[in-house]
Amino acid sequence: MKDQIEKVAQWIVHSKRVVVFAGAGLSTESGIPDFRSPGGVWDRYNPEDFYFQNFMASEASREKYWQMATEMYEPMKKAQPNPAHLAIADLERLGKLDCIITQNVDGLHHKAGNSEEKILELHGTAMHVACMQCHKRYDREKVQQRWRNGEKAPRCGDCGGPLKPATISFGQSMPERETEESYQRSSACDLFIVIGSSLVVQPAASMPLVAKRNGAKLVIINRDPTSFDDTADMTIHGQAGPIMAGILENVKKELGAQE
Ligand SMILES: [Zn+2]
Repeated sequence: MKDQIEKVAQWIVHSKRVVVFAGAGLSTESGIPDFRSPGGVWDRYNPEDFYFQNFMASEASREKYWQMATEMYEPMKKAQPNPAHLAIADLERLGKLDCIITQNVDGLHHKAGNSEEKILELHGTAMHVACMQCHKRYDREKVQQRWRNGEKAPRCGDCGGPLKPATISFGQSMPERETEESYQRSSACDLFIVIGSSLVVQPAASMPLVAKRNGAKLVIINRDPTSFDDTADMTIHGQAGPIMAGILENVKKELGAQE
């Protein structure tokens, strides 16, 4: 694995545009449960209850939604960035990060120190709440406090519209700007690094291919094999934290040596 880590570090040093793509595996290393895994929240709720259409249609659905969303939010709020998040923040500090495209909604890239304009949240964020009517955004914690005080389905203070965590729900369309920009940056990069994603959910699954087709090198760092392993220029199976920390250590060494 040492050779692989050194190789990826060299590629980073010699690349002009590095795009990092992060999936749920990155969050689980910070202790955030993968909600789709057995025993996860989805086992205890019926996903159909949480379709966007139902949320908009009935107060009862909204109350149920907020109850489940609260259960998912609490561990996220407490979670801290792990060494892989910190390594990605380091990449930005070294001027080596074009952007981070993330499927995660936990705000950990922000907490790790990446700047807002480098983060593309494909599935939205659980750290904010949005009004479904006037689109005003609220800080999640403030609305969550209202929920704790008994507002079972909080409403917008401005227009009275229903408030919903700013994550993308089933049946809700993907955020246009983020999706478009993700494709654009994937096609323009020369190194695409997947971290902690099995690349099964669309449009995630097509981005590495877009990058590859346009001449980028593809690196996959994931605990389990993915169906893209054969396409990748390098695959490292294992925990993202120590692997990314190792890669960054080598990047810094190489950059130091160049000076
Ligand atoms: Zn509103």
